[in-house]
Amino acid sequence: MHLIIMGAPGSGKGTYAKVLKGIFAVPHISTGEMFRKAISEGTELGKLAQSLIDKGNFVPDEITNELVKRRLSESDCKNGFLLDGYPRNIAQAKAFTEILNELNISLDAVINLNVTDEEIIKRIVNRRLCSKCGAGFNTITMPPKKEGICDLCGSPLYTRADDNEETVKVRLQVYNEQTKPLVEYYEALNKLLDINSNQPIDDAIKDIVKAVEDKCSH
Ligand SMILES: [Zn+2]
Repeated sequence: MHLIIMGAPGSGKGTYAKVLKGIFAVPHISTGEMFRKAISEGTELGKLAQSLIDKGNFVPDEITNELVKRRLSESDCKNGFLLDGYPRNIAQAKAFTEILNELNISLDAVINLNVTDEEIIKRIVNRRLCSKCGAGFNTITMPPKKEGICDLCGSPLYTRADDNEETVKVRLQVYNEQTKPLVEYYEALNKLLDINSNQPIDDAIKDIVKAVEDKCSH
């Protein structure tokens, strides 16, 4: 199964991906995690990525494309993958189509998680993190047993500085601008699966599995 998963920041994409990789028995390939790992390991790529990020720049598309191409050539991707965080713009999507052709892979589907902006804002501004162990909570959907205190280690919880409404709105605007062309691009290729993710995760997962199976049986 060769899949892409797309969703705005706060859509729960990472959580979905962790469940879906088990169901479809494919590796979850997150470009964000690949860059974070390269940075923490201090590889050449990591150093380059860090220097660009420090200057407020994104990693150039050519580097990301090459990184993805190499990763998908590894043996664990023999039977498929679930790609997360890539492509993030139309130039990357076009390059990715060429990469797939070169690797002789046919993309099965693009899972597009649809959540309203209001819902995303509500989820993000209510996010709380443990100051010691990093565990995540949500005052509405997953409250700690004792307010402001981590269930796991008893340390105080805090709110990330960029988890506020103004910052979230800017991030959503950037995402929506970049993503719309991708939605149209994959719709034109007849690969897009629109999934309602304004519902409990288990229900959304069922919808995804059914949609992917329907897609692949045609
Ligand atoms: Zn904790």
